[in-house]
Amino acid sequence: DIDVPESHPRYESLLTRHRIEEGVEKGITSRQGLIAQGRGEAFDYLLGERTTESADDAARAAAAHLLLAGHPVLSVNGNVAALCPGELVELAEVVDADLEVNLFNRTDERMRAIVEHLREHGAEDVKGLTADGRIPGIDHERAKVDADGIGSADVVLVPLEDGDRAEALGAMGKVELVVDLNPLSRSAQVATVPIVDNVIRAVPNVTRHARDLADASEEELRDVVEAFDADATLADAERAIRGGVDEEA
Ligand code: ATP
Ligand code: MG
Repeated sequence: DIDVPESHPRYESLLTRHRIEEGVEKGITSRQGLIAQGRGEAFDYLLGERTTESADDAARAAAAHLLLAGHPVLSVNGNVAALCPGELVELAEVVDADLEVNLFNRTDERMRAIVEHLREHGAEDVKGLTADGRIPGIDHERAKVDADGIGSADVVLVPLEDGDRAEALGAMGKVELVVDLNPLSRSAQVATVPIVDNVIRAVPNVTRHARDLADASEEELRDVVEAFDADATLADAERAIRGGVDEEA
């Protein structure tokens, strides 16, 4: 197994990397997923590998959206499945959302491996294998969704989504909650709520806020949603990253 002492200053980061490696070995994560992880790590390093205040506000707004939703769906790809499967299952329970496997590089084998992996982490019903719905304006393989899952969701959480699909989901009128460490990524730019944070920290943080807001009235939830400013959040994240660059220089 992994041989990193807990006292190592970058223990969390190395553990995360190891989970992705394991994901590739298990056939859950794609090789492109390794590259995405490397990009994410660089941004996280500059952010100080912490949840910023504005990312925390975004997580709270995301929780409010999920609680207000008629049909919330959490989209799961190969990176997220490797990094935080149990945490996703828990969030789905707390906000009563569906889990749907949705892959940029879709293969039947990887779809099944991820569904099985989520079941091992406590998921009961996992969507994604039916693939009887389509996202308009996206090429065939990448457009596939379940009609009774993402296809008919009003609120979707898409961690590490690709820019094209993020844009197309937005165009379908869905409230889109994106987790992405790069505030300049198109996915983050088109999101209703961009959470610029490592998915490993962001998902449990959304769950924590959802628990905290569980007894809030619809009006209180709407207030949280309306107080959130996506552009200000992205600008703040960019500032934090630029600050990290200055510190390193
Ligand atoms: P686009 O502008 O089309 O979105 P991109 O360069 O962002 O292009 P993606 O395939 O979406 O291409 O890249 C993966 C994204 O996921 C990167 O922005 C990266 O920072 C982010 N990412 C990788 N690992 C994590 C993680 N653990 N938590 C959050 N974000 C991550
Ligand atoms: Mg992106």
